[in-house]
Amino acid sequence: MPAVQALQVDVLVVGAGPAGAAFALNLAPFKNLLMIDAAAQPELRIGESLPAAAARLLADMGLYDDFIRQGHCPAQLNTSNWGGVGHVEQDAMRNLDGHGWYLDRLQFDTWLQQAAQQRGAALLQQTKLLSFQRDPADKSCWLVELDSRGKLLTIQTRLMVDATGRKSLIARRNGGNRRVHDKLSCSWIIGQDHANTAGVSDLVAEAGGWWYTSSLPNQGRILAFYTDADLPQAHATNHPIGLMNRLAFQAALSQQLRDYGFEPGSQHGFCAAHSATLDRIAGDGWVAVGDAAISFDPLSSQGLFNALYTGLAAAEAASRHLAEGDAAWGDYRQEISRIQLAYQHHLQAWYAEETRWPDQLFWQRRQAGTSL
Ligand SMILES: Cc1cc2nc3c(=O)[nH]c(=O)nc-3n(C[C@H](O)[C@H](O)[C@H](O)COP(=O)(O)OP(=O)(O)OC[C@H]3O[C@@H](n4cnc5c(N)ncnc54)[C@H](O)[C@@H]3O)c2cc1C
Repeated sequence: MPAVQALQVDVLVVGAGPAGAAFALNLAPFKNLLMIDAAAQPELRIGESLPAAAARLLADMGLYDDFIRQGHCPAQLNTSNWGGVGHVEQDAMRNLDGHGWYLDRLQFDTWLQQAAQQRGAALLQQTKLLSFQRDPADKSCWLVELDSRGKLLTIQTRLMVDATGRKSLIARRNGGNRRVHDKLSCSWIIGQDHANTAGVSDLVAEAGGWWYTSSLPNQGRILAFYTDADLPQAHATNHPIGLMNRLAFQAALSQQLRDYGFEPGSQHGFCAAHSATLDRIAGDGWVAVGDAAISFDPLSSQGLFNALYTGLAAAEAASRHLAEGDAAWGDYRQEISRIQLAYQHHLQAWYAEETRWPDQLFWQRRQAGTSL
């Protein structure tokens, strides 16, 4: 590494998605903190359903009132056709936590980044991690090389936060193994509703996987099909025409979408949606948060909640780590192990409820949790 003057920060957060921003906004009032992100600005991502329990986390972080002012769409009704028990409706009125939200995800991610900046975090966009190593002059610090809009920057920091999402870049470079539990993938398309159907989502199981559709703010709607990436139906639906062709075989869901007045738009994509866990989520001078620490099957709608929760919990642990060293990660490690166990238990139970297609590989893999 060249002997150049390094910029010094207490904490470097790599990745300014929801988890990195949640970490930053909780620690920035107390520590000198820099967030970097490879993207020039938050990019369109799917993952729009925020459970009602997130309200308590947002309140703990002092963000709830401002979140409500953002105008995300209250989630009033979930319907499902899963496990052969017919059409089931779950009204948010029966949830003790009240309703969740269908987010404008781009707005939500941008808002969290801004909240972190307002609390003192610096943000460098279009900035990528090139390399990092222990500082030969001070072994308690990292020397990190960044490419920031084409310029080489060297940062000296005491703590690196892996908020790189499903890449788990820093954890893996520090010897962590990321275990991928299944091959779930998602083909999605966003469009507009022409009927007034705000606040409704539908989940429908079929022979080759499952469908999900939900309202988005401003009369938007997302439609998504989930299956395993190595199965023929994934290949057949990884583009809008194939996706809509397969939907045509789902009579009830097709009718439902017609009732919503759904018209597909031009935004669509195909992406990984598997569950994954890390065998090491923190070590000497680093910690993983959000999807980098544990990635969820979207059936659980837990990803964003986990990003906020781990951001908050890791920020508290990091504060102790900077004072006390490695032992301070103990509670955080235990908490993530507890989340992993509860999640795997619930996910197996959800998939085990659907037994209508025992001859289909997608469902065979999920019976008795063989793929989880
Ligand atoms: C198909 C699908 C549907 C989903 N649906 C839901 C849902 O309905 N509800 C829900 O709660 N969750 C859902 N999720 C999960 C949710 O989107 C994630 O849990 C959430 O985005 C995790 O946030 P994160 O900050 O950990 O990671 P990310 O959002 O992935 O952010 C990571 C950030 O790191 C940056 N980055 C990566 N590498 C580098 C690098 N080398 N240098 C600098 N920056 C880097 C990226 O640019 C990005 O901004 C879904 C996920 C998928 C795939």
